[in-house]
Amino acid sequence: MATTLPTLTLNNGVTMPALGYGVFQTPPDETVAAVRAALDAGYRHVDTAAAYGNEREVGRAIRESGLNRDDVFVETKVWVSDYGYDQTLHAFEKSAGKLGLEQLDLLILHQPAPTRFDATLDAYRALERLLADGAVRAIGVSNFTPAHLDALLEATDVVPAVNQVELHPYFQQPEVQAADARHGIVTQAWSPIGGITFYPGWGDDRRSTLDDPTLAAIAAAHGKTPAQVMLRWHLQEGRSAIPKSVTPSRIAENLAVTGFELTADEVAAVDALDSGRRSGPDPEGERELFDLAIPEA
Ligand code: NDP
Repeated sequence: MATTLPTLTLNNGVTMPALGYGVFQTPPDETVAAVRAALDAGYRHVDTAAAYGNEREVGRAIRESGLNRDDVFVETKVWVSDYGYDQTLHAFEKSAGKLGLEQLDLLILHQPAPTRFDATLDAYRALERLLADGAVRAIGVSNFTPAHLDALLEATDVVPAVNQVELHPYFQQPEVQAADARHGIVTQAWSPIGGITFYPGWGDDRRSTLDDPTLAAIAAAHGKTPAQVMLRWHLQEGRSAIPKSVTPSRIAENLAVTGFELTADEVAAVDALDSGRRSGPDPEGERELFDLAIPEA
């Protein structure tokens, strides 16, 4: 069985490694070591965001890895406080400057801002400009519902390449996945192994996907871990997934998801775990965090 990591071809022909490495909540002073560990282990796709405060360290890790720039797919996100046409063009300068890169592989809008949707559309028009100018190789969105996508597609020209949304066995968003598929948008899973169901210190009333008995049974049948089963499930269903870990053994574990295949029954069993209940913020909501200011490069 193939052991090379799968890639996805985006709707503009750009190739993206399906499995990326996420750095949300990775403190800046741990980010260089964590991203270096991920690149050394074999990841070739890193997902960061202006709002994570660690783009500078992600860029440093890529440079220090000695890998060719073209061999690492770099994805980052524009935060809401930078929405608007000129503001978002400048947000690109800030992110590219911190990353130390001239061109980004994928730049996405971090959230829809429902009460500032005109600014959200202007931000997307700026992404279209950056794409046309070759400053970014692909553009997309995050946390967009089907209604947000419809409103975006109605008002703009370029279909997003990616929609990054909360997606793990306990919250699968079938209607978002169907809308993405209809428009040729790759669905990218954040919290792909259900991190948001067990973030340390985020309250203990949640049921962790890592403790799920169905996932444990499937994992045992393959001699794998529940995290590996979840990542394999994403890949077999054609999604991109961007697991985060600062722990070298888990970084390697989360990449060791080739060389085995879930059966159709096992995939169906994971599908059946959907509770329909999100753990993360509702994309229809307004958040105080929207006003977080993103520093200059
Ligand atoms: P994940 O599903 O990736 O889970 C991360 C958590 O799981 C961490 O606590 C990590 O701990 C732990 N972990 C990682 N691997 C294993 C393993 N093999 N076994 C047991 N525990 C493990 O959740 P995230 O929410 O971090 O999502 C991943 C990425 O998605 C983020 O880093 C970010 O890039 C993106 N994201 C995007 C959002 C958006 O709004 N667009 C929102 C949230 C996330 P440790 O690090 O201590 O090893």
